[in-house]
Amino acid sequence: MPLEIVSRKEWGANPPKFVKKVGKAVNFVIIHHTATPQCDTTEQCIASLSSIQKVHQNTNGWSDIGYNFIVGGDGKVYEGRGFNVIGGHASQFNAKSIGISLIGNWNDAVPGQNMLRATQEIIDFAVEEGHLASNYQLHGHRQVSQILCPGNALFNEIKDWPHFPGK
Ligand SMILES: [Zn+2]
Repeated sequence: MPLEIVSRKEWGANPPKFVKKVGKAVNFVIIHHTATPQCDTTEQCIASLSSIQKVHQNTNGWSDIGYNFIVGGDGKVYEGRGFNVIGGHASQFNAKSIGISLIGNWNDAVPGQNMLRATQEIIDFAVEEGHLASNYQLHGHRQVSQILCPGNALFNEIKDWPHFPGK
């Protein structure tokens, strides 16, 4: 399946409270999991995104859903804050990274191939479009914060990906 990006309009995102732009290509990709139940259908994934956005905006008091992009179990990439916008997902790295979160809890199980492929495709697309430096570094959230995210299984998976430190 080719890369399919579902726009905020298409998934019915609430508007951000405010937007802070990133001026140039960023140097890092930070991989997350949502630690919420998996979604299989587009309808389920959209419901999941809506509830995550509510928590981030209303409970956490953030401007918007924290991640730049979110990957669903339907193999689609959902636009979060999008490109060139500072995310709210990895404190010290927000202004210099693209945060991508895979819907689900990936501590014991690895996401499906469609999700892994979609994640790599949005990363490649970010480089092609000039939003991400071609010599970017890929990190799991746990490498930059005291947190278990993105889960043991997903973290082990991305250790084999290009641009992981030491690769
Ligand atoms: Zn995270």
